[in-house]
Amino acid sequence: MTLNMKTSDTLEQTIPAQVFKAEVLSWAKRIGVEPKEIRLRLMKSKWASCSRNGRLTFNAEILREPAGFRAEAIVHELLHLKVPNHGKLFKQLMKALLTPD
Ligand SMILES: [Zn+2]
Repeated sequence: MTLNMKTSDTLEQTIPAQVFKAEVLSWAKRIGVEPKEIRLRLMKSKWASCSRNGRLTFNAEILREPAGFRAEAIVHELLHLKVPNHGKLFKQLMKALLTPD
């Protein structure tokens, strides 16, 4: 038991796409946005993108990244449905959302 827990804590694991999408939806609810679609595909040079009509695409490689990294990428992209730029408001909201209570 202990050994298993330790292993899963220290090794990065690939999570299923459905788990990732559930994470995105849970953040979306918290932020108060409704993505039209969440897609995963391999991307060459970025982790995610969002289209004007609310479709989010994440690089499938993100399924192998640690939870904290995923959260940051998810919140960043979802926030763009509210704030299109990376200005002061965007940075403040990012910080507020990702700082534990
Ligand atoms: Zn951005």
